Amino acid sequence: MTLQELLTHYKNPLDQKQRALVTEAFEFAEHAHKGQKRKSGEDYFEHSVATTAILAEIGMRSKTTAAALLHDVPEDTEVTLEEIQKKFGPEITKLVDGITKLGKFKLRGDKKELQLENLRKIFLAMAEDIRVVLIKLADRLHNMRTLDALPPEKQERIARETMEIYAPIANRLGIGEIKGELEDLSFKFLDPKNYEFSRDLMDKVFKERKKYVDLAIKELREELVSSKIKVIDVHGRAKHIYRFFLKLKKYDMNMQQVHDVMAVRVIVPGIPDCYEALGIVHKKYRPLVGRIKDYISLPKPNGYRSLHTTVFGPSGKILEIQIRTPRMHDESEFGIAAHWIYSSPQSWRDYIFGRRAPVDIPEKELEWVKQLREWQKEFGQDSLEYLQGLRIDFFQNHIFAFTPKGDIIDLPEEATPIDFAYAVHSEIGSRTTGAKADGKLVPLDYKIRNGQVVEILTSKDPKTPNQDWIRIARTSYAKTRIRQQLRKAGIMVGLVRKE
Ligand code: MN
Repeated sequence: MTLQELLTHYKNPLDQKQRALVTEAFEFAEHAHKGQKRKSGEDYFEHSVATTAILAEIGMRSKTTAAALLHDVPEDTEVTLEEIQKKFGPEITKLVDGITKLGKFKLRGDKKELQLENLRKIFLAMAEDIRVVLIKLADRLHNMRTLDALPPEKQERIARETMEIYAPIANRLGIGEIKGELEDLSFKFLDPKNYEFSRDLMDKVFKERKKYVDLAIKELREELVSSKIKVIDVHGRAKHIYRFFLKLKKYDMNMQQVHDVMAVRVIVPGIPDCYEALGIVHKKYRPLVGRIKDYISLPKPNGYRSLHTTVFGPSGKILEIQIRTPRMHDESEFGIAAHWIYSSPQSWRDYIFGRRAPVDIPEKELEWVKQLREWQKEFGQDSLEYLQGLRIDFFQNHIFAFTPKGDIIDLPEEATPIDFAYAVHSEIGSRTTGAKADGKLVPLDYKIRNGQVVEILTSKDPKTPNQDWIRIARTSYAKTRIRQQLRKAGIMVGLVRKE
C-alpha cells in the first residue's frame, strides 16, 4: 500500500500538518524495515501500513496512526527508541514504547498463568493510554487476516488468544467492527468445520431473504419520507458468522428461531426521530411481542445505543430493525475510537494526561479506567487474584439493577446485594444489614436478576463489614472495599481459601 492509498483510508481527511506527520512516519518506518520480509513473503512494512489503515478507518488521527506506522520499528529493526524520540517527540514515542512492551508476551510456562500475564499487560496499558490498546487490536486484526502463512500449531495458539483476550477487549471498548472480525477469523481456525457450516448456511439464508430485505428497505424509506422524517440512510446488515453460530447453538441449531441473520438499519438525525421512526415502522409492520429493546434509554454496558424491534416484514417474514442516529452508529462500529471523531484533540490530550474529562465522554468510561488503577494499587500487579477479578468484572455478561430511586447499577452476572451496596457507595456497603429485591426480603448471597429493583437496608450507625462478605461478593470492587474497611478496623484478613 502506498502512502497515497493509506491517506484515502482516513475516516476524516487530515489537514496539512497532520498529513506531514503521517508522511514523515511512513517514510521513516519504510526505510527502517527495508529488506525485511514476513512469513508470507510480503514486505514487512506492508503489515505496518495495513495496521495503520485499520486505525484510520475507525477514526483515529495522525499521532495514533503515526505511532502505528512505527509500531514494530524498535522491536524488529536497528533503529532505537531514542532515534524515534528525537524525530517524533515524547507523545508518539510513548505510544510506540507501549506497543513494544505489550508485544513482549511470555510464551513459556503454565498456560493459565501465561494468559493472565498477557491480560495483565493489556490492562496496564489500557489504564495508561487506551490508544496503545487500539493499536494493538489493529495489529492483531491484521495478523489474524494473514494467519494462513503460519504453521498450524501457531495458528491455533494465536487464534485462541485472540478469541479469549483480544475479541472481548474490543467488545469492552465497544468496537463492534473489530470484535466481529476477530471472532470470525479465530472461529475459522479453532473450529473450521462449524465455521464452514455456518458460513454456508448464512449464504443460503442470504439468497433466500435478500429480496424481502431489499423490499423492506424500499418500503420503509418511502414510509419515513412521507411522514416527513429526514432519513440519513436505510441499509441491510449481515450478522457476523461466529455470532450467527452462537445463536444457532442457543436454539438447538433450529434456523427458524434466528431472526436477525439480516437486519435493516435505519439512520435518522436525532433521538426524537428514532422514537418517531419506531412508531412509523410499527404502523407499517406488526411488531412481535416482547422484542422491542430500547438501548437508547438503557445502553448496554459497553455504551451501545439503538432501538431494536422485530417485526413481520414484507410477506409476513420476520425481520429485525435497528434505529439509531449517525453518532450512535459510529459508536457501535468504532466504540471508544468514535470519541476521537466527536471530541476536539485538545480535550483528548487533557483526558489522556489525566487533566480532565472531555465533555462528552460518559462518566462510566472514566470510572472504569480509574477503577483499573485502583485495583492495581491495591493488589500489586502480580497477584493472580487481582487478575482473575479483572477477568470477571470485565468479561462477564452484565446485568442492570435499579436503586429505588431509579438509578441504574451495572453489575456482572450472579452479583449479590453486597456487590450492589458497594457499587452504590462503600459507606452503604459497610452498613448493610439486609436487602430487598422487587420489594421482597432476600438473603445477602441472593443472585440479583436483570431489571430488579434492589433496596439495601442499612444500620443507622457506622459498622464494619462482615468477613464472610468477601466470599459472597462477586466483583473485585466490593471485595477490595470490604478488605480495606476490615483492615482499617484492625481486622486482619487472610487469603481467601479456594473452594
Ligand atoms: Mn505488528
